[in-house]
Amino acid sequence: MKKQKKNKSALQEIEGVKQPKKVNKTSVNKIKLHRKKQPSVTEFITQIRNGNIRYLSQAITLIESTNPKHQQKASKIIKACLPYVNNSIRIGITGVPGVGKSTFIESFGKFLTSKGKKIAVLAIDPSSSVNKGSILGDKTRMESLVKDVNAFIRPSPSGDSLGGVARKTRETIILCEVAGFDTIFIETVGVGQSETAVHSMVDFFLLLKLAGAGDELQGIKRGIIEMADAIVINKADGDNEKAANIAKVAFNRALHLYPLKESNWQPKVTTCSAFYNIGMNSIWNIIQDYLKLVKENGFFEQNRKKQNSFWLYETINQRLKDHFYQNPFIKKQLQLEINRISENKTTPFEVAEKLLTSYFKEYKK
Ligand code: GDP
Repeated sequence: MKKQKKNKSALQEIEGVKQPKKVNKTSVNKIKLHRKKQPSVTEFITQIRNGNIRYLSQAITLIESTNPKHQQKASKIIKACLPYVNNSIRIGITGVPGVGKSTFIESFGKFLTSKGKKIAVLAIDPSSSVNKGSILGDKTRMESLVKDVNAFIRPSPSGDSLGGVARKTRETIILCEVAGFDTIFIETVGVGQSETAVHSMVDFFLLLKLAGAGDELQGIKRGIIEMADAIVINKADGDNEKAANIAKVAFNRALHLYPLKESNWQPKVTTCSAFYNIGMNSIWNIIQDYLKLVKENGFFEQNRKKQNSFWLYETINQRLKDHFYQNPFIKKQLQLEINRISENKTTPFEVAEKLLTSYFKEYKK
């Protein structure tokens, strides 16, 4: 027997074992395809501008990736895409689970694509990293819109912080617009801070509601009413139609108690049935009226600029905070000091001062 070489490798032929004549070509091709060189930044931009969905999706995957190399590439693509952003309208949709958000987006989305619009549906759901995508993750949602060539649906990116998820969605909006989508929906669940995040990246904010048992304003957060440009009472069909109309009157009355919005727009209340495709036209008319007003009075532009600076500060704040809390010394000290605070040995203010001073000292060097 031949002496075995020291450097054994899985690719070495072993004596006595029959070797296959040929390597399976199909598998090799599949592997090659998989490993195919990623498109260059220029290729991405050209293809996204051509409306190529495959490239668009791939670029969004780069945005969502945690790999720093992917993020760098994504940044280059976004920056180069900025000059080509189209005249889109960004619409935020919120409402509690079960109110009919996905049914509504499907119905309203189909209504718009039938009018020749190209729509993109994105979402912000910071909880999606925990439960693997509660919003839009479910394939059964928006079944017919998924098949519509003029619609692009992307589930919420996952991320550990709302800030991270929001940044990814904002960047995705830009790419979708460059790919030719002129109406962008951003859906969010009616819980927590995600509504504020969505509100600060859209032109029009739509709140979906259900008719309740008369006391319409109970359980509705004041902040949301103030953000809404339209309140749409969904499921206004069958036995529920009457209650929906009563709710409409109540909301209308309540909205008039609020001061006029900065945009000079008086928020509207209407009813619809997303399930039976009723009321889509009047909602579209409300949005058109709004756009006419804010484009004429300059609020549209002004608001987008304000949103840009909001996100600039937001990103800086987030990065600074992360940097501070991820510092190993701070992490350790925080735990110790929290115990000291609970034992009444020190105060939160003293500890904050102490930790910040030592943190700043470290970076002065
Ligand atoms: P989401 O959780 O807010 O996205 O709500 P869904 O769109 O999943 O809708 C929740 C349930 O309400 C589903 O069973 C829908 O079929 C139903 N639904 C949605 N819109 C309407 C509507 O306009 N009328 C009626 N009767 N049911 C609706």
